[in-house]
Amino acid sequence: MEKSWSEALLKTIEEHTTNAHQVQENVLENILKRNAETEYLKKFLHGSTDKNVPIVIYEDIKSYIDRIANGEPSTILMAEPLTEFIRSTGTSGGQPKLIPSTDESFEKRMSIPILMEAVIKKQIEGLDNAKGMYLLFVMPELETPCGIKARLYTTSSFLSSSMQNYMSKHLITPVEIILCLNTNQSMYCQLLIGLLQREQVSFIGSIFASAFARCIKFLQDHWEEICSNIRTGHLSDWITEPACKNPTSSILSRPNPELADFLDQTFENKSWEGIIRKLWPNAKFIDAIVTGVMSQYVSLLDFYCGGLPLVSPSYNSSEACFGVNLKPLSKPSDVSYTFLPHFAYFEFLPVDNGNVEPVDLVNVKVGLYRYRVGDVLKVTGFHNNSPQFQFVERQNVVLSVDLDKTSEADLLKAIANAKVLLDQLGFVLSTHSSYADTSSTPGRYVLFWELKTKASNDFLKLDAKIMEECCCIVEESLDFTYKSLRQDNKIAPLELRVVKPGTFDALMDFYISKGSPISQYKTLCCLKSEEAISTLNAGVIGKFFSPKTLP
Ligand code: AMP
Repeated sequence: MEKSWSEALLKTIEEHTTNAHQVQENVLENILKRNAETEYLKKFLHGSTDKNVPIVIYEDIKSYIDRIANGEPSTILMAEPLTEFIRSTGTSGGQPKLIPSTDESFEKRMSIPILMEAVIKKQIEGLDNAKGMYLLFVMPELETPCGIKARLYTTSSFLSSSMQNYMSKHLITPVEIILCLNTNQSMYCQLLIGLLQREQVSFIGSIFASAFARCIKFLQDHWEEICSNIRTGHLSDWITEPACKNPTSSILSRPNPELADFLDQTFENKSWEGIIRKLWPNAKFIDAIVTGVMSQYVSLLDFYCGGLPLVSPSYNSSEACFGVNLKPLSKPSDVSYTFLPHFAYFEFLPVDNGNVEPVDLVNVKVGLYRYRVGDVLKVTGFHNNSPQFQFVERQNVVLSVDLDKTSEADLLKAIANAKVLLDQLGFVLSTHSSYADTSSTPGRYVLFWELKTKASNDFLKLDAKIMEECCCIVEESLDFTYKSLRQDNKIAPLELRVVKPGTFDALMDFYISKGSPISQYKTLCCLKSEEAISTLNAGVIGKFFSPKTLP
């Protein structure tokens, strides 16, 4: 990116955030005017363009989305032509939410990497004409009954020619490899090419930190094979997808024993602390979202990356882009995203005072705010007149290891389905809890169950087959996003740890010792405290897993 262009982009951010109020008013006026004749808006506006439209959740507009998905014209909901649906990782009734996309929303999304490039270059030197290794992957697209494509927003952007153009200028990885649906082959080739061109890599990244962690694990499992390919100049035979095989073979054009020796030595080191710096000596930063549920990967990334700055670039969703991190070098725990007022019209609901009156973007006060996307945010300050938010949590999500978002209600429903089987076999599930185990990659859900037999004096004999079936029932009852990540090996098989009677009493004792009132003690459906998890682990009498692949 030329310096003058970069400066111009930064100037636009300054202008938009300075005029935040006016920009928001214009965005709203535009939405209302343009869409006034749609069936949806006519219901509320009755010819006026006032802000007479209620705040809704997805379920309120689902019937319109379903009608469009089944072939009715999209003009019932929106005036601009629908280009595709964006498939959210959030689900409604177990199915992915479908968010309409238009040329304009697409353009806004595309502007984020370019804006962030300008922001980062201003703060980190030596990035002119820099190329990076971004570990990027696509997910299969779905089609609605009338043939409209539904894609994750990342996949949708990688498929566009403007993004492909951008990627070919900024990434060392040939775009075909990123677009290959075979994740294992794609990951292997992306890492192999990254190592072959290690000197040219100025930054490394992935969209979310979970994918970065998965690639490090993949490297642990495959480094010997990768080094051997580099030594011989011959790509492994299992790389059969032409989109991966052809471009990788042409980069791996000759045996390179010197590089293979160096890499072997580096990988053979007992500790992999700081290995990313050794492998990619010119990398200046790691670019990956490390806030929200992704913060669980920060210590792992710090360990492997040896102090390279972790840059958490932006805060997005399928519904809209929200904000960008204007201080890319801040610590993950201090990251705030500045909302860009031209991206969408924003309103917020205060979390804690029961106030249902929404607050405009420019009028939020330092404190906690929520909006119907379902995220809880904390206002940390303002950039000019536009607020900056720290991501606090996704409402109602108790378990998450990747893009999955499992609520307490989802988990309880899934466990209730397994209870039917237990009941038939004469078992009672006395109490249970869970946690997301990301100590290994991919992470997994771990359930703790305290069981007893209905004939209460019987010795508890655990039948592995039945316990494994329970794991399966729970997984099959979870939502679409969980199951597709699991099928794609981005989530490891669910683990069920059966604990001996009395273990949950020990957990209660633990919480009471920490000051929980006995009379109001409730077993948490999901645990975060390591001490609490160790208390339950101390009582484990059997561990069971779902099968490697879901049936
Ligand atoms: P989806 O619509 O499937 O892309 O999911 C969007 C959700 O991902 C958001 O509403 C957030 O809960 C989460 N998310 C996206 N970007 C970030 C971020 N930078 N930090 C924390 N959570 C994020």
